[in-house]
Amino acid sequence: MISFLRRSGLFFPLFLAMVLGCDASKKATAVGSEVSAPYATPSTQSSPAAQTAVSAGPAGPVLHIDSTRAWQYVKDIVAIGPRWSGSKGQQRLGEYLHAKLKSDQVEEDAFVADTPEGKFTMRNIIAKFPGKKDGIIVLGSHIDTNYPLRNTSFVGANDGASSTGLLLAIADQLRGKKLEGYSVWLAFLDGEEAIRDWTDEDSLYGSRHLAQKWQQDGTTKKIKAFLLADMIGYADLDIQRDTHSTPWLEDMVFRAATHLGYQSYFFSQTLHDLKDDHLPFARAGVPVADIIDIYYGYNNAYHHTTEDTLDKLSPKSLQITGDVILETIRLLNASAESSSPPAPQRLPS
Ligand SMILES: [Zn+2]
Repeated sequence: MISFLRRSGLFFPLFLAMVLGCDASKKATAVGSEVSAPYATPSTQSSPAAQTAVSAGPAGPVLHIDSTRAWQYVKDIVAIGPRWSGSKGQQRLGEYLHAKLKSDQVEEDAFVADTPEGKFTMRNIIAKFPGKKDGIIVLGSHIDTNYPLRNTSFVGANDGASSTGLLLAIADQLRGKKLEGYSVWLAFLDGEEAIRDWTDEDSLYGSRHLAQKWQQDGTTKKIKAFLLADMIGYADLDIQRDTHSTPWLEDMVFRAATHLGYQSYFFSQTLHDLKDDHLPFARAGVPVADIIDIYYGYNNAYHHTTEDTLDKLSPKSLQITGDVILETIRLLNASAESSSPPAPQRLPS
């Protein structure tokens, strides 16, 4: 699950506020409260048109994912069935990821999470693709499906599978070459979803664990950017800006989208107080961007419902997101700004 409170956008004068829960009644209550919600203040972030300076330097070739393969990965993952933390399905997904990444440098970060439903053994899987430049770009996706929906047919085609399949397709483009730029690490994160109800303690288990581990061992200092992909497979793709993401990095994502002619799929709306796997890394001082389309179906009808199935997605959306991420990596490799300290952010405590 992703928790978020409200959105605003140039083309949405009627401001909507939603708090998404895991059951339909809670969702309906939240939707019913929209009208009485306060209006959002306009975003104070620099506009997408604000360009960040790119120094001269080898940016490397423009790369594109193979969307046919990406689609197959997403199909395979969905076919496994529910993949909530600790489930047989997630075990099988772990085996699937290891098989697809068998020629790569892969590590596991296993830990025991204390949840409202007891202790859960969880594991993040990290694939590392070394680069020539000193520094790391981390791409993230959550691998778990919603736990409270475990007794339904929920398969999380968009919410979990789409971004996980996408990272595998990105791995295909990184594999077998010494990258000219920064190292790229793919972080397949467990336990994003709340086990019972979303709170700061009951959510983001994998990303909190990994960010803490990397803070302790000094890795976070080397991370130039953390790009999170989540719910990026929807056929009607419309990725939102996010106020917890680092403005210069989101500007760079938008510039990458513009280079590829995909800018109309990005940032016509802004999300406020979106909670997702990028937050623990942001709190650790890493520049972050969450690439997410939280609005999934009319009135968000497919989010956290058994309607989150493959037929709502399209290979084109995977292509757009994957190519924009690869282009953002290219811009980061060429950018002087990527070594700047992150802009101060207002983050939930
Ligand atoms: Zn979810």
